Amino acid sequence: MSKTYNIAVLKGDGIGPEITDATIQVLQATEETSNFKLNLQYGDAGFYCIAKHGTNLPEETVALLRRTDACLKGPMTTPEEVGAPVSAAVKIRKIFNLYANVRPCRTFPNVESLKPNLDFVVVRENTEGLYAGAEFLAAPGVGIAYRIITTEASTRVAEFAFKLAEKRKKHLTYVHKGNILRITDGIFKDAVKTVAKNHPTVTVDDQHIDAITMQLIKKPEFFDVIVTTNLFGDIVSDEAAQVVGGLGLAAGANIGDTYGMFEPVHGSAPKYTGMNRANPISIIMAAALMLDHLGEGEAAAKIEKAVTEVLSEGKVRTMDLGGTATTTDMADAITAKVRQS
Ligand code: NAD
Repeated sequence: MSKTYNIAVLKGDGIGPEITDATIQVLQATEETSNFKLNLQYGDAGFYCIAKHGTNLPEETVALLRRTDACLKGPMTTPEEVGAPVSAAVKIRKIFNLYANVRPCRTFPNVESLKPNLDFVVVRENTEGLYAGAEFLAAPGVGIAYRIITTEASTRVAEFAFKLAEKRKKHLTYVHKGNILRITDGIFKDAVKTVAKNHPTVTVDDQHIDAITMQLIKKPEFFDVIVTTNLFGDIVSDEAAQVVGGLGLAAGANIGDTYGMFEPVHGSAPKYTGMNRANPISIIMAAALMLDHLGEGEAAAKIEKAVTEVLSEGKVRTMDLGGTATTTDMADAITAKVRQS
């Protein structure tokens, strides 16, 4: 009997609904050619649902996530005004303790990258640090943000990154600013060094956050697994995505011990809303990461192969790749390749 996975789908804002629909088409083709079923269950979350529910993450959506095996999430708009709701993605990561944000960075055929044949992964601590957004106004014109770094959170993300490195090229680079942030990054560094003792086959080195932003451009082939704190990881992974070909291709996984949420690295790109122009590959690759996480590695590989073949042929190229193809053209091309496999 075939297995059924319950998947929560949050389409999000801006280009989210278009690229998520494109992904569902690819997922359904994958399901047709595999031995499992996907029970897709749709939920509301994001900026658009504040007017409808008074929040960007309604309780019903949290309940939906709780009864599913994984979540496929489109990008969501987060307003920047003081007092606006905290990002829905940040809330979900916290509620479900999705402590490792995993962003694979590899080159694709026919896609311009800084150097050829790159393949590395950024692992970002996902629950604390400056990105948690804990800040307040101490006095008019004086704002204070907390950068909370704990041994517990640093240790579990380091453990995750070392295990990943063991399955890959066995090289881990940890990134910090320990010369300035001696206490918080001191805790992070100590945690990584402690975990390293249990993974003797992995070669370990470290870089300061400012140095790695330069090294990623100068020598990206040096890296295998990069592990860092939340905000540093946010910045480094966008840079890394551009180094290998751009945000339109970059997928991310948010992994905890009991749940996973899968999303594109990019945001809602509001200026392209409803234009059928965005590249859906980012979230299609996120769906592949989701299937792999659920134990359906063969189906995930099928999607990756289909994406690689479409890019390799070079006939269907969205505007970010220098072409004129639409979101639906790209989805159709990838779907056709999946069906042929
Ligand atoms: P963005 O990633 O949405 O867009 C930056 C630029 O990247 C776009 O203008 C576009 O040129 C390009 N781009 C992004 N995705 C693309 C795609 N699929 N195809 C082709 N080109 C693409 O970043 P932003 O403009 O800084 O943020 C917009 C909104 O998204 C903000 O409200 C921000 O808070 C939010 N955001 C959400 C998430 C998330 O949901 N996890 C992540 C990042 C940003």
